Amino acid sequence: MKKKLIAGNWKMNGSLAANEALIRGLLAGLGTPAGQVALCVPAVYLAQCQALLAGTGLDLGAQNVSEHEAGAYTGEISAAMLRDFGVRYCLVGHSERRQYHGESDGVVALKALRALASGITPIVCVGETLAEREAGKTEEVVRRQLAAVIHANGHCISEIVLAYEPVWAIGTGKTASTEQAQQVHAVLRAQLKAATAQADRIHILYGGSMNAANAAQLLAQPDIDGGLVGGASLKAPDFLSIIASAV
Ligand code: PEP
Repeated sequence: MKKKLIAGNWKMNGSLAANEALIRGLLAGLGTPAGQVALCVPAVYLAQCQALLAGTGLDLGAQNVSEHEAGAYTGEISAAMLRDFGVRYCLVGHSERRQYHGESDGVVALKALRALASGITPIVCVGETLAEREAGKTEEVVRRQLAAVIHANGHCISEIVLAYEPVWAIGTGKTASTEQAQQVHAVLRAQLKAATAQADRIHILYGGSMNAANAAQLLAQPDIDGGLVGGASLKAPDFLSIIASAV
């Protein structure tokens, strides 16, 4: 059985001092986790976090990558640059990128491609808005978002991590019920199975107000292979408790 993966998404939070305190707090309480753990940190702190995480068994992640390989794209960061800092995972298509930065399904698919080409595992985020859920379009939306990534990445699709993050649950304190989450995860697993014989080895994470109180129940679902954790990853005790739920 594959180990669960718990990835923290710090979003645009942190400082040199706060990052160090958070990582030292995590390391002090971590012990030997049953699952894998990754921290997706703001790009400017990659070097700092790479140094703090060296030799700890925790993996370093980024929050975004350019869809371009290199060149005149001012302000962008390439997959090869991330790789230079020991980045193992990169969030791709987070709903905040789709919503505030206009990232289309096609752009998200290209970003996944760039990450994979540089040996970085993209954590591809999909999820429906509240209006889409209320209109009965949840499956249609997540299937469309995943289809673009499958189409662009071909057989390499077995190398991604997928994260189901209902947009209405992100940062709102409203978590999908275990049934709602498992149902969508099963749909995504079936779509992956149609695309690759390796679908069972792909991690499908749940994200959206996962916290110390609800993590164990969500992580016990058959198609939930880990969590993508925003707010609760910024507090060492909360994140440690989620990590401990990943057995
Ligand atoms: C996220 O940012 O991916 C996320 C799931 O945030 P939160 O846990 O705060 O809802």
